[in-house]
Amino acid sequence: MLSTMQDVPLTVTRILQHGMTIHGKSQITTWTGEAEPQRRTFAEVGERATRLANALRDELGIDGDQRVATLMWNNAEHVEAYFAIPSMGAVLHTLNLRLPAEQLVWIVNHAADRAVIVNGSLLPLLAPLLPHLPTIEHIVVSGPGDRGLLADTQARVYEYEELIAGRPTTYDWPELDERTAAAMCYTSGTTGDPKGVVYSHRSIYLHSMQVNMAESMGLSDSDTTLVVVPQFHVNAWGLPHATFMTGINMLMPDRFLQPAPLADMIEREKPSHAAAVPTIWQGLLAEVTANPRDLSSMKQVTIGGAACPPALMEAYDKLGVRLCHAWGMTETSPLGTMAHPPAGLSTEEEWPYRITQGRFPAGVEARLVGPGGEILSWDGDSAGELEVRGTWIAGAYYGGAGGENFRPEDKFSEDGWLKTGDVGVISPDGFLTLTDRAKDVIKSGGEWISSVELENALMAHPEVAEAAVVAVPDDKWGERPLATVVLKEGSTADYETLRAFLAEKIAKWQLPERWAVIPAVPKTSVGKFDKKVIRKQYADGELD
Ligand code: ADP
Repeated sequence: MLSTMQDVPLTVTRILQHGMTIHGKSQITTWTGEAEPQRRTFAEVGERATRLANALRDELGIDGDQRVATLMWNNAEHVEAYFAIPSMGAVLHTLNLRLPAEQLVWIVNHAADRAVIVNGSLLPLLAPLLPHLPTIEHIVVSGPGDRGLLADTQARVYEYEELIAGRPTTYDWPELDERTAAAMCYTSGTTGDPKGVVYSHRSIYLHSMQVNMAESMGLSDSDTTLVVVPQFHVNAWGLPHATFMTGINMLMPDRFLQPAPLADMIEREKPSHAAAVPTIWQGLLAEVTANPRDLSSMKQVTIGGAACPPALMEAYDKLGVRLCHAWGMTETSPLGTMAHPPAGLSTEEEWPYRITQGRFPAGVEARLVGPGGEILSWDGDSAGELEVRGTWIAGAYYGGAGGENFRPEDKFSEDGWLKTGDVGVISPDGFLTLTDRAKDVIKSGGEWISSVELENALMAHPEVAEAAVVAVPDDKWGERPLATVVLKEGSTADYETLRAFLAEKIAKWQLPERWAVIPAVPKTSVGKFDKKVIRKQYADGELD
């Protein structure tokens, strides 16, 4: 028997309409580097998004599910694109501006993007690529930058503000099937070509509701979130959509992502929440240690994308800022877990829960799979690869225009679960602890050494700024750990001291024999430790 309930599609259009009316007074503040930031209400952003949709259809001729790319920082115009493009039925394709040129070219061609909206400050990045981007017919430029760089392009060039000026403030939004594509994001292609993940209206809608639940970020219209995580990194972890659902104010850093302007922004605008990867919080900590600022407005910070070192959490606790650990992937929209301890615990009892990756929300099912394919129990001890499935988890990758979507065996199980490539354990009460990525774990003499555990232990040393541990080939043991360490300024710590420090916490056979002090840990396009670069540098003999 069917239910008697209405069947209303869950669409981004509905999120837009809700945000711009019910939460019309909420604000997006964009840092400009000028005396005053730019401030726009959700009502204004919604109206401008509507005018943008009219312009994309009537002036650029965007039609059906054509892809419109963005090459933009986090700012109000980018949020306008976030809503205009999917609501008209087209597909928003956020481009990662930190990718190498060849990968960007590959991705734009694979997605067959027809237009790109670009921040003027990023024209030096886009212009040289244009001869290799035959599908791009239209370029819309927003904000300051040298337009002269586009002098030779065959594509038509528009000024964002001129393009949307005077356009209608209403749009006859199509009633879309909630399963159709709304937005896409490519993984960064650490192995092989990048892979396209295509989010549906439904998956975005349901994911936004989860982001807003108290067991996740749990914010309201009395909050302001500082969205440091880029809008090209898994839809800024869902925040632009989630904020329009509940009226959370947004503070957008635009291109001012260095620790000093971030600290200024926080002190001046007093956000109650922020979201970013650990390297951002490491940088900010060093900044406020050298030049103190008041960060105490931030009640909660969502930290994820890579393991959060417990020492970092402790350091922020001392500043009155609570870091909340979360795990996710491009393929998981990204919210997979968040580490809110169970109710009723003391501060000491909470700690072991806070340093896990967290609990799965109702929309995400999880299982651990052992080396022989067996399903492991949640006993806090049996380690296996994490597999997940759920309403906002990818079930395949985009096959390209005219191509079939595909499901590589190493990423999807036969029965339809996503293989995350992350190795860990789950406690009986459902808390996930990741010990490593399958490809980063160090296999030494038939035993596994967690690179993350060694890194966390090293980063707890007061003179260590950052530490990354990788596996290196070893004749006797197969692999052994190599510890690369970035020392704080003025540090005199040597390997023996660090090794002795580690020996207090780590089993002797796991202690690294190989060490290197490096000036900085290489980072990926989204600010995570890039271990493949370290491994390569080691192989090339550059580290010693
Ligand atoms: P990429 O694979 O290019 O890094 P993603 O942003 O999709 O792109 O990365 C997802 C991966 O990041 C996860 O599979 C996991 O290995 C890692 N990750 C994300 N959050 C955490 C976390 N809290 N702790 C440990 N690893 C994490």
